[in-house]
Amino acid sequence: MWKLTMITMVKCPNCSSDQVTAQKKGFSGGKALAGAVLAGPLGAIAGTHGSGKIKVFCLSCGHTWDPKAQASKEKSHADIIEMMWKKSVIKAYDSGNIEEARKLYLNNVPNTPDNFDLTLKMEKLRKEADTTGGVILLIIMGILFLILMIWLLN
Ligand SMILES: [Zn+2]
Repeated sequence: MWKLTMITMVKCPNCSSDQVTAQKKGFSGGKALAGAVLAGPLGAIAGTHGSGKIKVFCLSCGHTWDPKAQASKEKSHADIIEMMWKKSVIKAYDSGNIEEARKLYLNNVPNTPDNFDLTLKMEKLRKEADTTGGVILLIIMGILFLILMIWLLN
């Protein structure tokens, strides 16, 4: 079951197909299972630590990649971009640079009408910027927890 969870999460970074298959090399089933129970699919991925690599192979385009590296790269990248533009809108708004804040907002949120009410959006934005920071903190704590778990299981 944990194997399926992990694989269905994965999409080809090259062609976005979900027709992918995993190749396991020395995959530690016991650790992965413990990881999945303790920490969800991310824990299952942790089962690959120190016991060979898992490679995912795309059936549509033939691309192969390391899902563990790919997932953490995409996630942290998207989060940081998200937090950065929100913080810069807030910064511009708070320093009285309303036009700049509007422009930044429009650049980053597609399909926003030109005459949108920025004041209304600001409250939501502040909350989201805080949440994003919180999510990153949560990820860092999760990673520390996984490292501890891997250390205990080794
Ligand atoms: Zn592909």
